[in-house]
Amino acid sequence: MDLKSGYPFWAVKNGLMQAFPQLCENATCDVAVIGGGITGALIANELAQHGHDVAVIERRDIGWGSSSASTALLQYEIDVHLTDLADIVGLAGAVRAYRACAQAIRDIETLANEVGDVDFGRQQSLYYASEEADVAKLRKEFDLRRHHGFVADWLTRDDIKARFGFDAPGAILTHLAARIDPYRMTYKLFDRLVASRSAVYDRTTIADIQPQAEGVTLTTADGVTLKCRHLVMAAGYESQTWLTQKVAKNRSSYAFITDPIHQDDLGALASTMIWESARPYLYMRTTGDGRLMVGGEDDDVDIPDHRDQRVGKKAHILVKQVETLFPELSLNPTFSWGGTFAETEDGLPFFGPHAQYGPRVHFAMAYGGNGVSYSMVGAGLLRALIEGREHPLAELFSFNRTA
Ligand SMILES: Cc1cc2nc3c(=O)[nH]c(=O)nc-3n(C[C@H](O)[C@H](O)[C@H](O)COP(=O)(O)OP(=O)(O)OC[C@H]3O[C@@H](n4cnc5c(N)ncnc54)[C@H](O)[C@@H]3O)c2cc1C
Repeated sequence: MDLKSGYPFWAVKNGLMQAFPQLCENATCDVAVIGGGITGALIANELAQHGHDVAVIERRDIGWGSSSASTALLQYEIDVHLTDLADIVGLAGAVRAYRACAQAIRDIETLANEVGDVDFGRQQSLYYASEEADVAKLRKEFDLRRHHGFVADWLTRDDIKARFGFDAPGAILTHLAARIDPYRMTYKLFDRLVASRSAVYDRTTIADIQPQAEGVTLTTADGVTLKCRHLVMAAGYESQTWLTQKVAKNRSSYAFITDPIHQDDLGALASTMIWESARPYLYMRTTGDGRLMVGGEDDDVDIPDHRDQRVGKKAHILVKQVETLFPELSLNPTFSWGGTFAETEDGLPFFGPHAQYGPRVHFAMAYGGNGVSYSMVGAGLLRALIEGREHPLAELFSFNRTA
């Protein structure tokens, strides 16, 4: 087990798939996107597919930010229960957010099929009660979801044992979830963008943003300018550094992956992602070639050096947790890594303009446990804002909700 590598599996598996040029000469475009991760890729794709002239600028190599560290479980289930979210933002908004995430999985599936070979696979999602005391809460969550049309089954302890082979007092089984290789998906989308004449630049850092009445001027660390009508700030967790208002809290998360496991040994795990009601939660899912990818053990660490020092210990704890659940399963962990992620107070993302920059700078902060699904929702939302149209989630995902 390479515990000290800190190399996220997707980057190791795929390597640097393609190099893009640096931005060396002053340029103009309709929409500039800062950030070449999965969020920037999905938004740039959405805009380019609808006729916008897009330029993407990435300071590292494409996909090298948190998209390479993501375990990429695609879920409509937000980390905050529907019941709790309804208490915070109202039932209508909470249901709208859950439904949008459900649609995002189908939209990502369509895109994955278009670009091909990104290890997309439909899965079920089993959300189990970590202890007896959580059963009533989960049952309430199940009832509310069912009431609003989300297809799910309630499983008892016996059902869980018979179908999944581990012990838990109750669980919600949902049938709409998926997995993907987010790093490969990012590259494939950018490949397609370049082929459709959009511009993608990597190893180019944006150091300054100047909003004006008719547009926005970006200046790179080397003094090159890019003028655009609209800017999308999809700089991942670094987006926060551009805002004086603190809208999220950085945390660290940890993961490991095993060698491929035979299908017969994986059993229902091959088609089911599993997570639990405890916080932080343990979660796991498989890859197309039968590896088990496990994550969790989140902590408040916000200093990369400290996080990296913890990777070995955290991976060891995660391995033990899986062995406790599935003592028969023979695990051979191969890589482990840690990554920063950010959480908002209500578990919802922020998409749209912030008062600090005015109406032409649109933030895309897909923060939370299901950031990739949020990014897909945000792609349609930001296109609507840029095209001057209304969107049903614009208000709920805006910075105004914190006012
Ligand atoms: C361990 C871990 C597990 C996760 N698991 C899941 C999961 O199971 N499901 C899920 O949906 N989500 C998950 N997430 C969250 C998910 O990974 C993120 O939501 C997603 O990767 C964010 O993508 P992004 O494109 O916004 O950010 P990034 O991938 O970080 O991309 C932003 C890019 O912006 C670039 N950039 C920043 N500043 C500048 C600048 N000034 N100039 C130019 N470029 C700049 C960065 O270099 C970076 O590449 C997980 C995250 C982690 C860390």
